[in-house]
Amino acid sequence: EGIDLVKHFGGGGLLSSPTIVRAVDGVSLQVKRGETFAIVGESGCGKSTLGRLLLRLIEATAGDVLYEGRSIRSLSQREMRRLRRELQIIFQDPFASLNPRMNVRDIVGEPVALHGLAHGNERRERVDELLRTVGLLPAHADRYPHEFSGGQRQRIGIARALAGEPKLIIGDEPVSALDVSIQAQIINLLEDLKEQFGLTLVIVAHDLAVIRHMSDRIAVMYLGEIVELSETDDLFDNPLHPYTQALLTAIPVPSPVNRTPKPLLQGDVPSPTAPPPGCRFHTRCPHAKALCREQHPRLEAAEGGRKVACHFWREIQNAGAGSIAAPP
Ligand code: SF4
Ligand code: MG
Repeated sequence: EGIDLVKHFGGGGLLSSPTIVRAVDGVSLQVKRGETFAIVGESGCGKSTLGRLLLRLIEATAGDVLYEGRSIRSLSQREMRRLRRELQIIFQDPFASLNPRMNVRDIVGEPVALHGLAHGNERRERVDELLRTVGLLPAHADRYPHEFSGGQRQRIGIARALAGEPKLIIGDEPVSALDVSIQAQIINLLEDLKEQFGLTLVIVAHDLAVIRHMSDRIAVMYLGEIVELSETDDLFDNPLHPYTQALLTAIPVPSPVNRTPKPLLQGDVPSPTAPPPGCRFHTRCPHAKALCREQHPRLEAAEGGRKVACHFWREIQNAGAGSIAAPP
């Protein structure tokens, strides 16, 4: 079965996903230099797969990723090394991604050495500088990952990602394993680093509240597809897709009286190996009609340069912006 995950990067292009699990399907997007682009959806919707495909950490079966206008498949070994330096990823669980037998100096210094960026004493100084940049003490460089808190470990992961002087950093749920108070610190750090180094950020998250204030644009994914693509403010002011509307309703309002978020959606996410026919969201959509069960909605242009994949987004808008109808 042909899968047409399409992803444009820097100039335009496409990439495709594994065939067995349809984790990412027909996705086409373009990340602009210097922006913070967020990919949001429930777990199992393919967000992480998309992130890994972009870095070619997993191979696509078809399609392609363009980086600065060139297919990453056509790159020589040498060019691929440069790409691997310029595109870095930060993972959800920094503990799992840091070698427990290496101390912090070696963890952060490894990419500096690998890319031949500094040697000897200079490398030492570079590691100290990287640690200070992410808010860690160079005096702690001889410690091992288990000696740090979760937030500090994420800072180590960020220092390592910065070591190769990247242009783009993908954060795969970079704060979802952390306490809420620590989440804000790491988000602030990422925003500061973005300013300081002119980075492009791609943040994968399941929580819209986390990325609201840091992202310029948001792609909402459901079962491997992008269902809405929009500037962040537009998305929050006026969500077009019923799934986005449901995600927004689920954000808890901070209030001493009402602590529990409104119920999100009926039912679980269907299996990505056998997505529902027609609109993949129809099994959970309060607006679903017969057409939705039969015909797959394409991601189409909506107002203000936005994109939405829903047969009835106009009707839903006209019926009452953002209101969630009772299920039939
Ligand atoms: Fe809901 Fe139909 Fe729109 Fe899908 S196409 S989101 S089922 S109204
Ligand atoms: Mg994931």
